[in-house]
Amino acid sequence: MEKKLDKQVAIITGASSGIGEGCAREFAKEGAIVIVNYPKASSKEKAEVIVNEIKASNGDAIGYQCDVSKEDEVIKMFADVSARFGTVDILVNNAGLQSDAKFTDMTLEQWNFVIGINLTGQFLCAREAIKEFLRRGDNGKSKSIGKIICMSSVHQKIPWAGHANYAASKGGIMMLMQTIAQEFASEKIRINSIAPGAIQTPINKDAWDTNADMQNLLKLIPEKRIGQPEDVAKAAVWLASDDADYVNGTTLFVDGGMTLYPGFAGNG
Ligand code: NAD
Repeated sequence: MEKKLDKQVAIITGASSGIGEGCAREFAKEGAIVIVNYPKASSKEKAEVIVNEIKASNGDAIGYQCDVSKEDEVIKMFADVSARFGTVDILVNNAGLQSDAKFTDMTLEQWNFVIGINLTGQFLCAREAIKEFLRRGDNGKSKSIGKIICMSSVHQKIPWAGHANYAASKGGIMMLMQTIAQEFASEKIRINSIAPGAIQTPINKDAWDTNADMQNLLKLIPEKRIGQPEDVAKAAVWLASDDADYVNGTTLFVDGGMTLYPGFAGNG
């Protein structure tokens, strides 16, 4: 069967767990050469497990340590990957985290930490990716010369008390994504976002790890189930593939209906 991302080189940031891990596995199934990025030596082992499992299923992957908030490390990652595999065709700008606090207690350090990884990290990786797409031009692998998928969140739209840094980073991603999509659409580069709702990963363990927490969470989800990394990963494969060739600058909500104002379902 034809693979949708055959031989395309995909850097997936924050891919040693959760949604990034799910994307790494789905992209490899579709024939992509996957760069499983992780931030610190402590995540290396987890990344290697994913790489080895992909290889055992006849896929191709490597692990790569890089903190996406550090400009020199991001530049080096794109240079190293391009030197080893010839280029980069796809970026999944996925790395992200939370550092929550009541707004009046939030320190500048907490603010800068989250913005630095969630928003500046996406800026740095997208910039290096687009430079590489433009340098290389059409290589016949895809209708576009390059694709970027930015991992946003329903919180680019839903305000989130106690998470001002996180919500601001995701709102920022929306405008960053739309602006660069507008800037590079004529160069045949496609840039889109995915806005996940509640997906069962380590980032939000507090929201689902007891039955009571899970029941509370499900009140916010019309489909009455928590999402899985594969739900997002399959959407990311589609956005990266030529099946989505006319999709540019959009945000695909993968949220089981969370943004449908579930509180109004019973007539408000
Ligand atoms: P996760 O904690 O499993 O994954 C986040 C990954 O980012 C981790 O692997 C972590 O090591 C990596 N990371 C953190 N700092 C990094 C850095 N400086 N450089 C490189 N990598 C770094 O959680 P997840 O849910 O899989 O989150 C992935 C993305 O999805 C995040 O951007 C998150 O905001 C977004 N998201 C998640 C949910 C959800 O419900 N899980 C909902 C909306 C959006």
